[in-house]
Amino acid sequence: MTVTNNMQVNIDRLKRTIDKSAQIGEIPGNGLCRLALTKEDKEMRGLFLEWMENVGLTTRVDDFGNIYGRREGLSDLAPVVIGSHLDTQPNGGRFDGILGVLAALEVIHTLNDNGIETDRPIEIVNFTNEEGARFEPPLLGSGGLVGVFDKEFVYSRKDNAGKTFEEELNKIGYKGSIKNRLQRIHSYIELHIEQGPVLENKQIAIGAVEGIKGMTWLEIKVSGESGHAGPTPMAMRRDALMAASKLFVHIEEKAKSSDEDISMTIGRMSIYPNVANCIPGEVVFSLDVRHIDDQVRKEFVAEIKEEMEQICQQEQVQLEITDLWDINATAFHPEIIEQIVKSAKEFDCSVTRMVSGAGHDAKYINQIAPTGMIFVPSIGGKSHIESELTLDDDIEKGANVLLHCVLQLSGKEELTTKIKESIH
Ligand SMILES: [Zn+2]
Repeated sequence: MTVTNNMQVNIDRLKRTIDKSAQIGEIPGNGLCRLALTKEDKEMRGLFLEWMENVGLTTRVDDFGNIYGRREGLSDLAPVVIGSHLDTQPNGGRFDGILGVLAALEVIHTLNDNGIETDRPIEIVNFTNEEGARFEPPLLGSGGLVGVFDKEFVYSRKDNAGKTFEEELNKIGYKGSIKNRLQRIHSYIELHIEQGPVLENKQIAIGAVEGIKGMTWLEIKVSGESGHAGPTPMAMRRDALMAASKLFVHIEEKAKSSDEDISMTIGRMSIYPNVANCIPGEVVFSLDVRHIDDQVRKEFVAEIKEEMEQICQQEQVQLEITDLWDINATAFHPEIIEQIVKSAKEFDCSVTRMVSGAGHDAKYINQIAPTGMIFVPSIGGKSHIESELTLDDDIEKGANVLLHCVLQLSGKEELTTKIKESIH
């Protein structure tokens, strides 16, 4: 294989595919609503298959609806795999996931234009239901593929209308064969928008993602006593909301003072009876805690559990904590991270190593193959919203870094760490 260092993607062609994708499920404000396994998803999948066939890829669909396109290499070694997801949030943007899939397609175009043959085959992929906006939990396609979720679990997930994943997969005609799953993977690289403000703030073009933060989700119930807002004297109240407010303040202060990389979010809350002239008798809220170091996260969670108990005792209310999720951090493969940094430098792109606060398909693929992610800046850090934006210049840089990583990896015999190939 000849590596041509000045080889570059065609940004105009890549932008045209992004614009075309942005018409499928378009909503006001430049956004997209393309929930997994809907008719919009079906339309986008059809177009994606057509595009892949036009560039000479051999396409296939597996039993989770994941779509692959394969470009043969000079040898029959395990392929370099690149891609992401084409589904969106209900009020999503036009780049989240989509950029990674369409940049992968552009990589193939560019290799074809330059007459490049690689040693390893290259496969591009669109994973099903990454967002989890229609079928919970997220990452069902990649999680099913690597065995985090078994097939019965994936197929039985229901949307709000009670329709199952399997029914809807059948309905749009994308229930493929188990034989079509990725059999072998040399390495996986996912280009994705950052979805946070760090790269833009630091004015850096490329993030070489070292890993994904681990996450704990708790549901916390505070029970006091309801009563009439007028006659009950303040000193005699057991107001669940006032007690919960003390918990909120305490958790936030502790997070800010203990470790600057801890993220804590209370994103959901219900108050009972939720009436203006009634003292709240019960409050239920969620708590999401993330950190790249599992030990730091676990200690933080253990401490706040104890401290919340103390505060609730002082406030004379009851506390009940339910553990909803506990997911350890992901560390991507050192050689892939290094390759991303190297390719960025070759392209004169500013680059920084960073961690991801959000989950991605790469998290699960990392369990079966050496994996890495390339981040490009999100303007204002905005994502999962119509106004999500990544500038053309950054898209071009990200796609070029992806191209050069693929060129390097597809010519390598082995990565130094033993490659765990998928057993499917
Ligand atoms: Zn995404």
